Amino acid sequence: MISLSAPVLGEQEKEALCHVLESGWLTMGENVEAFESTFANLHNAADGVAVSSCTSGLHLSLAALGVGPGDEVLVPSLTFVATVNAVLYVGATPVFVDIESEVLPHISISDAMSKCTSRTKAVIIMHFAGYLVDLAAWRAFADEEGIFLIEDAAHAPGVTGSNGHSDVAVYSFFSNKNMTTAEGGMVLARDISVLGRIRRLRSHGMTAATLDRERGHGHSYDVTDLGYNYRMDELRAAVGLVQLRSIERWNTRRRELSTYYRNELAKRLPDVIVPFDSDYNTAAHLFPTLLPEAVQRARTMKILLKAGIQSSIHYPPVHRFSYYCGRFPNVSLPETDSFCSRELSLPLHPSLEKSDVDRVVAVLKSAI
Ligand SMILES: *Cc1c(COP(=O)(O)O)cnc(C)c1O
Repeated sequence: MISLSAPVLGEQEKEALCHVLESGWLTMGENVEAFESTFANLHNAADGVAVSSCTSGLHLSLAALGVGPGDEVLVPSLTFVATVNAVLYVGATPVFVDIESEVLPHISISDAMSKCTSRTKAVIIMHFAGYLVDLAAWRAFADEEGIFLIEDAAHAPGVTGSNGHSDVAVYSFFSNKNMTTAEGGMVLARDISVLGRIRRLRSHGMTAATLDRERGHGHSYDVTDLGYNYRMDELRAAVGLVQLRSIERWNTRRRELSTYYRNELAKRLPDVIVPFDSDYNTAAHLFPTLLPEAVQRARTMKILLKAGIQSSIHYPPVHRFSYYCGRFPNVSLPETDSFCSRELSLPLHPSLEKSDVDRVVAVLKSAI
């Protein structure tokens, strides 16, 4: 079986887990602190806040920026549903924005501009498939409109260029992402007071963390906000620290395999469109393709699966899910609809060999 994605896990992760168990300190301790600072350093940030998931990180980010009822947040529909759910968690209204085009499936600045109102408070961009959106352009847009810029960076850990321009960037360590802690996420913010607020909201809005109390820094605490329990535990952080050592190497391997796919497809299946330019800055989280219009996608996926090859669709657009259709009818996103009806993601992970890519391309060619 050639799987769509696969985490890389080994002896070092096992050892790290055993160390935590032997230490007897299971959550919010030195591993979490080290994971936060090491991850932040890698992304040119002073500090980070580790959380239970990217979803909870997005929720906390919106809450910490004061986004709430009556506010509108610009969002892509070509994303995982969590991006948009987070907007609803804080009682704000998501406003769906189309993608630029089928070869540039990023949230469109011109469409975003046309959808700004006096109620627009923030925009959430998403680095689709790991390909970085033009953050400098989005920063200029956000400043012009006087709104917050939030990055759903679930697809783009360990690549230079994410973070830096945005108010908040949120990463995911779910099992199928470029690095994993099984479940988990990280928040970076350029304003340390926003990051401090996110840190408090992560743990019930309390003013003192468990570890600080244990260290004897204050025996009591106040609760200054309505917070949550979105903490990360020591086991996950210890695994994350090990994974961080390899993330850049894994991303490089993902890019090499993507380039190989791109070249092979151009040679053997020129009708299959591969989005983005070959020199795009990317963490190469996914390898998305667009099938020719006449090709039946479901049948193609079945043929691939019969040959032992997993494939997937990124994504069924959020505005088409029945929950969202019901709440937000009459959303029209022609570019997103067209892209999502033809998109097929092929296997991509660091353990893949070029011979695997050859097989995928060969089976895809015969299926088409
Ligand atoms: C995976 C993913 C999320 C959610 O991440 P979790 O850590 O599972 O909460 C959010 N946005 C995008 C784009 C994702 O791919």
